[in-house]
Amino acid sequence: MTKRRRSLTRLPSLPTIAVEILRVFSDPDVPVKKVADLVQADPAIASKLLKAANSSRFGLRREIADLRQAIVLLGKAKVTPLVLSFSLSADSLESEEAAKHFRHFWLRSFVQASAGEVVGSLFSASVEAECFTTNLLAGIGQLGLLNQGADKYIDVIKQSQQGSQSLADLEREVYGSTHHEISVEMLERSGLPRRCIAAINSLVPDSADRQLDDETQQLTDVTGVADAFARYLCDTDTGVALIVLQERLEKLNADAMDVEQLTTRVRAKLDDSASLFDIDPSALPDSDQLLEDALDQLTEFTDMIRVDTCAVPTELVAENGRLKTQVEHLVRQTTTDALTGIANRAFFDRRLTEMVFQCLRNSVQMGVAVIDIDHFKKVNDTHGHQAGDQILKQVSQALESVTRSDETLARYGGEEFAVLLEDIATDGMAIVGERLRATIEELDISFEGTEIPITVSVGVCCGVPTNSEFGLKLFSRADNALYQAKQSGRNRAVVDSSLSSASVRVSRRVRHAETAPLPEEPAIT
Ligand code: GH3
Ligand code: MG
Ligand code: MG
Repeated sequence: MTKRRRSLTRLPSLPTIAVEILRVFSDPDVPVKKVADLVQADPAIASKLLKAANSSRFGLRREIADLRQAIVLLGKAKVTPLVLSFSLSADSLESEEAAKHFRHFWLRSFVQASAGEVVGSLFSASVEAECFTTNLLAGIGQLGLLNQGADKYIDVIKQSQQGSQSLADLEREVYGSTHHEISVEMLERSGLPRRCIAAINSLVPDSADRQLDDETQQLTDVTGVADAFARYLCDTDTGVALIVLQERLEKLNADAMDVEQLTTRVRAKLDDSASLFDIDPSALPDSDQLLEDALDQLTEFTDMIRVDTCAVPTELVAENGRLKTQVEHLVRQTTTDALTGIANRAFFDRRLTEMVFQCLRNSVQMGVAVIDIDHFKKVNDTHGHQAGDQILKQVSQALESVTRSDETLARYGGEEFAVLLEDIATDGMAIVGERLRATIEELDISFEGTEIPITVSVGVCCGVPTNSEFGLKLFSRADNALYQAKQSGRNRAVVDSSLSSASVRVSRRVRHAETAPLPEEPAIT
């Protein structure tokens, strides 16, 4: 340990009850009575534990009023993290700003613990609780530093958020140790199992790679993912965190869980536990926004890397070209639809917003076509889901073949596609709509030797943006035109010209939503 580390006047300790619980629970044969007595010593924790046992989180069937019974039913593995959570959250700090940081710290610890629990469950139910506890305690050194001198530590956190130096580097500079090293030191005195401490120690940057037994390695890998996830969801360097998270998840379990699934499951856990643990998950950023911010940050780094490599976090330039490859991989993964390989809805929505601003500036028209496969449910019911998937791929390839490179084609939902076009007037949109429709009607589709005729209905609309909300309006008018195409018999394109003043020429199959009444039978050539 460095000299500076010793200069920390005193390392804070975990709340007594938490340490006692850890010690007692490290004995596999500890009697329930002893645990119950210990918990009873803190009435606030005892009552919270009862409340927890009766909450939906554990789904025990009958109401429990006796603490000892609650402990037996929950089991030691579940009681440990619960008691730890309660006893740590009871901690309070004096100034309002310190309290704010404490709340953030607490929420972050809980995010990390829940991520640990979710990832641990991929291995076995028996390791979930230990993964939770380890990750709940991993950042406890931060609590220690806040308790030592809140203002000083808050300054360090702020500096790391504003500059290019990582929090760990700054902590080393100011305190001689990172908060994870301090967590390890605090926990070494608490009776936490060695493998948990080893897992937390692995979070210290440049910590030496040691040979670990299988159990410890597993816990270490889970903790690495959970830490990166908390960094992604709760810290400001979301771009770097997303790369680290992806890498660790891939190393851990290949395809078993991706970032989106992990986020959904952790958020569900947080919502379930919010009132019980005094956390406010609504303080966390929205998932779509988060991903967008992360990708923006990474794109900025890729630009910077050409000009000023020093400004890019060292984690990302460790290997030549790694950042570029990772970002490309990530962008591809998050912007394309897995089944068809064309753009996904998130990408389309982003392009739509960008184009609104572009066309608003230049006063040019933009257009949207919404395409929906007709009677697709029946196709699935008759030929099977596999045939349905095959058809979705063929339809998207065909649509792509008639979409220009400066237009954006995306799979917008199940059997729905959308095309975004710039600098186009209503008559041009009518032609595009008709071309899309005809392309699919003419397509030869068969599955296992059976021919399956497929048609689509199309709604189109275009106009010059009037404000930043224009994209929503344009899409909803095109969608409405699509609805009318369905209503009037399907296999047709309908134009909504309400946002455009240009005169329009209409092809036989293309109708105006607000003009001639539409025939009930499908259009003929
Ligand atoms: P409509 O002409 O009114 O659009 O009728 P529809 O049957 O196409 O529309 P509906 O919305 O009732 O059903 C859409 C169907 O698309 C239901 C769903 O099974 C199917 N679908 C959505 N996504 C997929 C997918 O990824 N693969 C397959 N095979 N089918 C899908
Ligand atoms: Mg449909
Ligand atoms: Mg549909």
